[in-house]
Amino acid sequence: MAKGKYARHSSGVKLPVILIMVVVAIIAVIFAVTALVRSLHNEEPMPSISDKLPGQSQQQQSSQPSQEPAAPPVDDAATQARRQELLDQAERLMQGYYYDDAIELLQNAGELTDTSTAALLQDVRKAKESLVKYEGGQYYHIFFHSLVADTAKAFDGDREEDGYDDFMTTVSEFKAMLPLLQEAGFILYDITDMMEIVDGKAVMKDIYLPAGKKPLVLSIDDVNYYTYMLDDGFASRLDVDADGNIVTIMGGTIIDHGEGVSTVEGGEPTYDGDVMPILDAYVKEHPEFSWQGAKGIVAITGYAGAFGYRITDLHLFDEQTQQWMLDKTTQVAQALRSNGWQIACHSYTHNQYWNKKTITMKEEEYDIGRWLGEIAPYVGDTNIFISPFGVSFDGDDQRFRYLVDHGFNIYCPVDSYQPCYVRDDYMIQGRINLDGLTMKNYPERVIRHFFDPTPIIDPARPE
Ligand SMILES: [Zn+2]
Repeated sequence: MAKGKYARHSSGVKLPVILIMVVVAIIAVIFAVTALVRSLHNEEPMPSISDKLPGQSQQQQSSQPSQEPAAPPVDDAATQARRQELLDQAERLMQGYYYDDAIELLQNAGELTDTSTAALLQDVRKAKESLVKYEGGQYYHIFFHSLVADTAKAFDGDREEDGYDDFMTTVSEFKAMLPLLQEAGFILYDITDMMEIVDGKAVMKDIYLPAGKKPLVLSIDDVNYYTYMLDDGFASRLDVDADGNIVTIMGGTIIDHGEGVSTVEGGEPTYDGDVMPILDAYVKEHPEFSWQGAKGIVAITGYAGAFGYRITDLHLFDEQTQQWMLDKTTQVAQALRSNGWQIACHSYTHNQYWNKKTITMKEEEYDIGRWLGEIAPYVGDTNIFISPFGVSFDGDDQRFRYLVDHGFNIYCPVDSYQPCYVRDDYMIQGRINLDGLTMKNYPERVIRHFFDPTPIIDPARPE
């Protein structure tokens, strides 16, 4: 029964099934031929199986019309250039430890967002998360005077030669130190970011750096280009170029204005006449040497003006020159600050009464009063005092309290061990001079913290 049923059923549908199979076969042949013809006309070589990774879609290589969404359109050249610019900018920010700025830039990339911006964003976040709190208690502060740019003039056997040999560093020595400091793990750090006043008390702020790195503070004393140094191979003043960079003026003609005051007329702007433009250029090339653009501290006295401009002897100049000097002082100070420099008071007089610690309250009021009244209005307020002759006072000495009470709550004497601590409402940070005296007579002081100075001592120094 069942057999017959099957037999009858099967014989009843035999003809239509064959017809359908024939039609299907014809359609398949047409389809295959069409595909073959298309593939022969296709200009792209047919990918072989071995060209493909397992699981890779063949969608894009297929000549068949597709229901899948098309591949994303390739960006035009202008878009790619804009993206590259954004990536470069974010990379520079990351190198200089401006992590939050880099993250913000990449997060707001908008239409420029792609896998490369996402990858960099991830790198920046990782770098930020990998910072470690600086511990250990040892801080570092090196200092210089204006650099000897022309050794033949500085070391010419005149009466100033010995002083320059002891207390100055040459341009070639300073340039040689920078990569050595970097190799030793130092990163320039802003001294004003090391301390804060909380409820009237000074507290050290946490410092976060990449693992193994150390914060370095740097300062330059007496950035005044005193009259006695004008023909001895130093710059004569600072200026600002059209792009806002600090330049050193070299050469020119010395003009005597009387009362022991000289200036230089003319002269050429250079980028390697003193610490500031040299370090600015170095950090531009090595942003990882500076924490968020920090450079150092420019310490100035007042009795010879500031930065080479004799703004405290205005009566010796005509009205136009007076205004020019005041304007220049302000411009230089602003350019220094916007390039990561701090400005410090180094006393007004630099008088021996500081060195001998015989300074009376009356003398101090005169000295600091003149700096605050005649220099600060042009260079801006500061809370940093770089003591003349590196002198230090006891914390309860009323002459020290006078300074703190007049806003100088960061006090930097000279001490090659560079102690750094807060007490009451101020911070003390000792400094080491990386000059001829230390490098030649006390190299162990440099080796202990930084590098061996002997190989970099300028051969142009006197024997
Ligand atoms: Zn000094």
